[in-house]
Amino acid sequence: MKKIGIIGGGISGLTLGCVLKGSGKECIIFERSNALSEHGAGISLTPNACKILDEIDILDAVRAESCSPLDIAWRDDQGKVIKKVNINEFGEVITSNRKVLINKLYEKFINLGGEIKFNHELLDIIKEKELVFKNQENISVDYIAGCDGIKSLIRTNKIKKDKITFSGYTAWRGIGSSDSKRINIYLGKNSHIVCYPVNEKLETSFIAVKKSKIKNNESWREEGSHEDLLEDFSSYGSFIKSLFQSSNKVYKWGLFDRKSLNSFSSGNITLLGDSAHPMMPFLGQGGAMALEDAFIFGNLVNKSDDFNFIRNNYEKLRVGRTNAIKRSSRYQGYINHLGNPILKSLRNFMLKNTDIAMRRTRNIYNYEPLRIINNL
Ligand SMILES: Cc1cc2nc3c(=O)[nH]c(=O)nc-3n(C[C@H](O)[C@H](O)[C@H](O)COP(=O)(O)OP(=O)(O)OC[C@H]3O[C@@H](n4cnc5c(N)ncnc54)[C@H](O)[C@@H]3O)c2cc1C
Repeated sequence: MKKIGIIGGGISGLTLGCVLKGSGKECIIFERSNALSEHGAGISLTPNACKILDEIDILDAVRAESCSPLDIAWRDDQGKVIKKVNINEFGEVITSNRKVLINKLYEKFINLGGEIKFNHELLDIIKEKELVFKNQENISVDYIAGCDGIKSLIRTNKIKKDKITFSGYTAWRGIGSSDSKRINIYLGKNSHIVCYPVNEKLETSFIAVKKSKIKNNESWREEGSHEDLLEDFSSYGSFIKSLFQSSNKVYKWGLFDRKSLNSFSSGNITLLGDSAHPMMPFLGQGGAMALEDAFIFGNLVNKSDDFNFIRNNYEKLRVGRTNAIKRSSRYQGYINHLGNPILKSLRNFMLKNTDIAMRRTRNIYNYEPLRIINNL
């Protein structure tokens, strides 16, 4: 049996591990940290993401510790509703804490008999077979899945020598409290804020994004001050101010990006998730694409031992879709941040009087990976 080496124990790596172990395939995850180090921050799981969680049988467990929001409201920066949409029109949406998602994936992987080696930071790959780690261990595998995130060493060293670039956006993130069981999206000038509860206690995650010339580190852990956050979003109404003030800690970092790739594979090495297609978080699809990639890739491996079959079908199924969503995510940032009053009124008019918001996401949410795999 072929042995798959999975580099990175984030969303894509753990999901791939669950899919492979679920079919009794031999795989092992190598993670550079000494433990699962997911930081408390919100994640919205749209219908396409929920479908994958259901397929790997952790949807109920994630839902039990998360929130099922009632609806989505788009608002101006003073909180006035522009449009409200019943969430069920999209399919199931769950808003959660990233820690919950990562823990449920990890528990599932371990319960399936999976092995994860912490303190294993990959430094190099020799002859597409031998993994060289910083702790001086060398381990041979047959196939390598690069799930090592936006700063992927595998991508830079083995697929494309491109650079990470600053996107021009800075994001603030925190978890406070509110009494709203909705996803609220506030649209301001050159900025926007997305808030949603992460559990039924209505602990509320916020991500506040603004254009910026300053590069912050691409990190989950750069702590900022409430004063700076309040100053950056001073034009917003009282709900936002009290949400910010109710959060214990706030984090600030720059949003980074890489160019789109035409191919995610080389030889027996394939990229999944952010290593293949990092994207702006404005459609909440980065994690969902990581889940889809892993589900598709894992099922291709389960279907055939032939690397050419796996690689060719993975490219066919994933490159076009993920790159299109990457483009749409960036465009959504432009739409969210319109400053010109005429364009802003036009956007609000379209949002209010047409189903433009749903039309843009319907194709993203309707993805049926299992049907696609079964039809191959
Ligand atoms: C502000 C913000 C908000 C977001 N909100 C959402 C949202 O609401 N919904 C959504 O779907 N997505 C969202 N995303 C995107 C989502 O978080 C990412 O797309 C997702 O985490 C990608 O998963 P991954 O497994 O590819 O990479 P990662 O989660 O980055 O995991 C990579 C793993 O690889 C490990 N690693 C790295 N290098 C090595 C190495 N050399 N050796 C061994 N291990 C290594 C790392 O330690 C890490 O554990 C958001 C992103 C941002 C920035």
